[in-house]
Amino acid sequence: MQFQLNEEQRQIQALAEQFSRNEIQPRAAAADRAAAFPMEVQEQAVALGLVNTTLPESLGGQGLGSLELVLITEALCRGCLGIGTALCINALASEPILIAGNDAQKEEYLGRIAQGALASFALTEPAAGSDVAGIRTRAERVAGGYRLSGGKIWISNATLAEFFVVFAKTDPDLGYKGMTAFIVPADSPGLTVGEPLSKLGQKAAPTAEVFFDQVFVPDSLRLGEEGSGFTLAMKVFDRSRPMVAAFGVGLIQRCMDEALAYASQRESMGKTLMGHQAIAHRLADMRVRLEAARLLAYQAAWRLDNGQTNTIEASMAKLYAADAAMWAATETVQIFGGMGYSTEYPAEKLFRDAKVLQIYEGTSEIQRNIIARELSI
Ligand SMILES: Cc1cc2nc3c(=O)[nH]c(=O)nc-3n(C[C@H](O)[C@H](O)[C@H](O)COP(=O)(O)OP(=O)(O)OC[C@H]3O[C@@H](n4cnc5c(N)ncnc54)[C@H](O)[C@@H]3O)c2cc1C
Repeated sequence: MQFQLNEEQRQIQALAEQFSRNEIQPRAAAADRAAAFPMEVQEQAVALGLVNTTLPESLGGQGLGSLELVLITEALCRGCLGIGTALCINALASEPILIAGNDAQKEEYLGRIAQGALASFALTEPAAGSDVAGIRTRAERVAGGYRLSGGKIWISNATLAEFFVVFAKTDPDLGYKGMTAFIVPADSPGLTVGEPLSKLGQKAAPTAEVFFDQVFVPDSLRLGEEGSGFTLAMKVFDRSRPMVAAFGVGLIQRCMDEALAYASQRESMGKTLMGHQAIAHRLADMRVRLEAARLLAYQAAWRLDNGQTNTIEASMAKLYAADAAMWAATETVQIFGGMGYSTEYPAEKLFRDAKVLQIYEGTSEIQRNIIARELSI
């Protein structure tokens, strides 16, 4: 077993850290206040090869693995979890095409992503989030393709997306076996995107509803076979959850940075906060949870890169990193005292940004369900 990154991994990690420090972190507070994604950061990240890294070189990507994606993601999200999420979440739309797309679909749509296009993964509906099989968006067979009707909610980057990977029911009577995925261009007649949803944190990453009113989708844009949508979504989550765990790792690292700096200079009762064991122990616990979350994320990614199943490892990594991030952000606010509650300091944003880690990409409860199911004999 090796606990060392290779030279290429160290280089890409250093590049991502530098970019995060110089380009993301300085924009974080303003992007949060404006609830707007700074598109110039996306353009710079594309130019530097810091996004869409897992796309094959033949399609304009770099053919890097999941571990490299985790390293880059942690670094970007250390600068700002909102901007980092918007930058990295394209992977959710590209993975289904990588897994199930035919050559023409890959060339056209992954090619566009490699050029800098944003795309969205549209699964969740107002009446079905955790209950993936309960989606109601309907894809009805018509000559030459399908007509989609229904609606999605909480779709990351929807307002910026050039196309969507949409999950719909082709045969509602078959339950989860009646789900199919489609590539749906954003300019398809009948498709509308709502206003960005107002939310607690990660405000720089826009999320919106998407509505389908008899949207025609040709057969050529169906991903895989009819009925393969549920399995495809689950495969995507195995591949994306190590990255989402890295969202949490980046946030915990930033909590460490901020809390340690503050606790080292702020004085109370004749010594720095770090001089008080109650505070120092919090930082020690934060360091332990940071390392544990990081190693779980690395393991889940490593297994994927080495062709091994990673369902339980990906769920453990996502669950642990999300819960540890929420804990670390809560402790950071506490260490900052009153200033932790002030919008003048970064702690309150870390706290707001952390919460959704326990909700999206499968809630913490759903991760525990998956882990428990994998334990069953
Ligand atoms: C900022 C943000 C971005 C998002 N981005 C996307 C995106 O890009 N694409 C997309 O498709 N979706 C996206 N989502 C949706 C997200 O994945 C869902 O919100 C999430 O899966 C939870 O679904 P829900 O909101 O319907 O909650 P519900 O499923 O209604 O859950 C409510 C509560 O009940 C619990 N619960 C539900 N079922 C069970 C069960 N069986 N066992 C135990 N507890 C249970 C949940 O854990 C939760 O605590 C995003 C959400 C947010 C907030």
